[in-house]
Amino acid sequence: MSITPLMPVYPRCDVRPVRGEHCHLISEDGRRFLDFASGIAVNALGHSHEGLIAAIQKQAATLMHVSNLYGSPQGEHLARRLVDLTFADTVFFTNSGAEAVECAIKTARAYHQHDGSAERFEIITFNNAFHGRTLATISASSQDKMHKGFLPLLPGFRYIEFNDLEAAKSAIGPHTAGFLVEPIQGEGGIRIADDAFLQGLRALCDEHDLMLILDEVQSGVGRSGTFYAYEQFGIEPDILATAKGIGGGFPIGACLATEKAARGMVAGAHGSTYGGNPLAMAAAEAVLDVIADEAFLAGVRAKGDRLRSRIEQFLGNYPELFESVRGRGLFIGLKMKIEPRAFVAHMRDHHGLLTVSAGDNVVRVVPPLVIDDTHIDEFMEKLSAAAASYQPAETA
Ligand SMILES: *Cc1c(COP(=O)(O)O)cnc(C)c1O
Repeated sequence: MSITPLMPVYPRCDVRPVRGEHCHLISEDGRRFLDFASGIAVNALGHSHEGLIAAIQKQAATLMHVSNLYGSPQGEHLARRLVDLTFADTVFFTNSGAEAVECAIKTARAYHQHDGSAERFEIITFNNAFHGRTLATISASSQDKMHKGFLPLLPGFRYIEFNDLEAAKSAIGPHTAGFLVEPIQGEGGIRIADDAFLQGLRALCDEHDLMLILDEVQSGVGRSGTFYAYEQFGIEPDILATAKGIGGGFPIGACLATEKAARGMVAGAHGSTYGGNPLAMAAAEAVLDVIADEAFLAGVRAKGDRLRSRIEQFLGNYPELFESVRGRGLFIGLKMKIEPRAFVAHMRDHHGLLTVSAGDNVVRVVPPLVIDDTHIDEFMEKLSAAAASYQPAETA
């Protein structure tokens, strides 16, 4: 037998974290890393956050799980909070981002099908998008590498170029149910939608009675410097998928919708055994206690601006390596002139710095939202030491 007990679907590196301390990770062999990857934009409060730990411990000792057959004071409270903070009127809780996107897709189809428009099922999505790894969410993504081996895809998706409003307009037909778009593409390389593009999609949806679905699984919950990124584009969606940062490391996601958009989501239409259980609700409440605060979000914007301008000033020292820096808040992409994976490995293995590579030759810099200036200093020291010692031929 040569297959590993852990199904070998990840090319795992040899860093084996066993403990977290605020913005650092400690590995099995005792090495210490500055964590500017945050479990891929998940550990918004860093590691070992006292408020989050206390909330989970208290709820675990009180009531961990009950079925959605019963009333949920915990779910009602968090849903009310999200409704008050956003465009939404109603919330469905999930355990992951992909499930939140699945619920968003089902909500958009049900919006049309509840009154018998069964022909309007197609969701238009955008090249280089990432929406998850379930069959529906890989079908929603244009990336062939995620499809290989898993055909046939689910019908009802169509891909067009990101930030191309004309293409979006021409793609609308009798089967169109809506658009699904990341306001800032994460896996695609921190590619930011143009204001005019998102505003144009909003106008097309209004004109043709289509659903505008935002995938804010990565960009949401303070990551971009506002509670959700859409706030920075002068639009509101009909449906929004959120996850990653909202649990601060506890697995939780949610699909948010307006009353109008959710008109097909009636009793019996959808469900989840774990979704919205008391333990998950307690974790998300503790995260919102910190992040859903204007002063905290202003701090994320300020720290993001400082980090981006420090990176910007530094890039010119290595014109052969770096091209530019972009992003919003602490959702930052460092665009390289080379394939970035070997450099990410070099920073990790030789300079104790964790980041994540993404599409478009980008290194994602996604620290915990609770960093302070000492972490920005430490990041810049490690980044510049890594650039100075990097031999492009070096293998990961
Ligand atoms: C991570 C991600 C997902 C999938 O979330 P999972 O929790 O891994 O299922 C979906 N959409 C976007 C934009 C993401 O970044």
